[in-house]
Formats: sequence, C-alpha cells, structure tokens
Amino acid sequence: MEINGKTKVVGIIGWPVSHSLSPLMHNAAFCHLGLNYCYIPLPVAPEKIGEAVRGLEALGFVGANVTIPHKEAVIPYLAELDVGAELTGAVNTIVRTPAGLKGYNTDVDGFLRSLKEDLGYVPVGKKVVILGAGGAARAAVVALALAGAAAIVVLNRNPERGRALCELLAPRLRERGWQGELAAFPLPPEDGEKVFQGANLLVNATPAGMEGFAAELPLPLEQFPEDLVVYDMVYNPPLTPLLQECRRRGLKAVNGLGMLLYQGAAAFTLWTGREAPVEIMASVLAKQVKNQ
Ligand code: NAP
Repeated sequence: MEINGKTKVVGIIGWPVSHSLSPLMHNAAFCHLGLNYCYIPLPVAPEKIGEAVRGLEALGFVGANVTIPHKEAVIPYLAELDVGAELTGAVNTIVRTPAGLKGYNTDVDGFLRSLKEDLGYVPVGKKVVILGAGGAARAAVVALALAGAAAIVVLNRNPERGRALCELLAPRLRERGWQGELAAFPLPPEDGEKVFQGANLLVNATPAGMEGFAAELPLPLEQFPEDLVVYDMVYNPPLTPLLQECRRRGLKAVNGLGMLLYQGAAAFTLWTGREAPVEIMASVLAKQVKNQ
C-alpha cells in the first residue's frame, strides 16, 4: 500500500484500540481492490471525544469506526443518524457527508447478515432468547425486531438492566411498527422451560467465554429445544465454551466472527461505495484470531 497526497483516510476511535482487528481487515480490503484508502487506529481518551469527532470533519476523514467506550458518546457531535443507530442509541460507523457527519450502527446489519450467511437463519415470525443487556444485546434486539422476529426474550444477570433495555427499546420499536413481544427475565431464568419454549435461536451477547472472562453461562442447557440454533457473539477463542457445549449436544452453533466481518463489510461500502471483498477480510480475521 502506497500512501500519497491523494490517500483517503478512515480510522477507528476507541480507548484502547491497540487490540482491534479492523485496521488489518480494512487495509487488506483496500489493497485487494487497489483503493487509495488507509485505515488507522485512533486512540481517544473519553474526555477528548467531542474534539476527536469534530476533528474528523476538520481533517477531511472519509469516516471512522467507533468502538468501546465511545459508541454512545459520539452521538451529540453527529448531524444525522441511520435507523439502527437511532434505535440502539449507539454508533459504530461514521461517514462524512456534504451535510455533516452521519452515524450508523452496522453491528445491526452485520449481525443479521451473519445469522443468514453463517446459520441460514431468517428471524421472521421466530422467538429468540438473548443473553446480556449491554450494547451488543441492544444491537441484536433491534436487528431481530427490524427483521420481523415475533418474540424476543432478554436474559440478564442483573435483571434491572434487562428490564431497562426493554423499557428503552420497546417504545422505539413500536413507533417503527414492530408488533412483536419483548420481555426480560433474570439469568439464570427461574423457569427455563417456559423461557425457551418455542424459541429456535439463542444469542450470547455477554463476554462470558471470552479470553479473560468467566467461561460459564448459568443456562439450563438440558431444557433447550432440540432444534435450537446458537449464535455466540464471542469469537476469541474461536471455539468458545458455549460452542463446545452446543457441539456436544448436537446443536448448530457459530461464533461472532461473522458479525465482526459483516459490520466491517457494511462500513467499507459506506466509505467507498464498493462491495467489500468479504473473503479477503474473513481470511485476515481468521488468521488473526488463530494467532492471538
Ligand atoms: P457490555 O455493554 O459491557 O454488556 C455486557 C453484558 O454481559 C451485560 O449485560 C452483563 O450483565 C453481561 N455479562 C458480563 N459478564 C457476564 C457473565 N460472566 N455471565 C453472565 N452475563 C455477563 O458489553 P457489550 O458491548 O454488549 O459486548 C458483549 C459481548 O459481545 C463482548 O464479548 C463483545 O466482545 C461481544 N461483541 C461482539 C461483536 C462481534 O462483532 N462479534 C460485536 C459487539 C460485541 P450485567 O448487566 O449483569 O453486568
């Protein structure tokens, strides 16, 4: 890759960002298509976030990704939000437009595309159980509701946070015409059989199983329906403890590498107007995750 006077710049704003796989993934994609773009890490301390976002415009960045802990904090500095960002209240991609900076949540699109490509799962009319009530769970709830899921159950360790997620998202989704059910219960659930009855997708949107975090999820695995498919947003290690358990029980299950890939692919298209070379990006991610 040759950087010259015409190179267009994008980057990732986070704190820290040194662990991010996005620079390698996007730079490989730019190189593959011969695009004169460059993707750089942009570590930004929380108290500097406003200056940093305004700086994107001043410095002529094409856009940026946004990661923890800034996904919500960038919103006041943006001119416009897409549907996913508005509903989740979180932005992971910024695009500079003639009207100002626009925020997107491509985790929403990335999750849905991964469900389809990696599990062959289409949410229309289905019941889904989601573990967790943080940012990733919010993206999953919004994605599933926008895709027509009939019922979404959120299980969270801190039940208050689960209820708060429902109170935040239910009115927003209703306003968009979603007529499905959204409910929250504690994790572990008191009546696992009832919670899982009729569900055919389980999504882990907690860091449990991720390197450095507790491995175990307090789940009534023996009460899972036999046709349940499982999406674990964790991808490091690639064969997570939840995936191992699912395999032992013969349940179809995938990790969250596809979500990472497809949120990146959606951002790539927003910045370049080109379809992302997902095979190249996927091979970069797979190699990195294996090496970590
Ligand atoms: P977050 O906002 O910090 O929320 C974490 C959630 O997980 C909370 O609801 C927390 O429950 C719950 N939790 C944490 N440890 C737990 C444990 N040991 N057992 C049960 N519940 C636990 O985090 P986030 O941004 O939503 O991210 C969650 C996970 O998704 C992370 O591992 C992240 O890497 C992954 N993720 C992956 C992708 C992808 O592209 N594949 C994208 C986004 C996120 P309490 O409220 O009770 O604390």
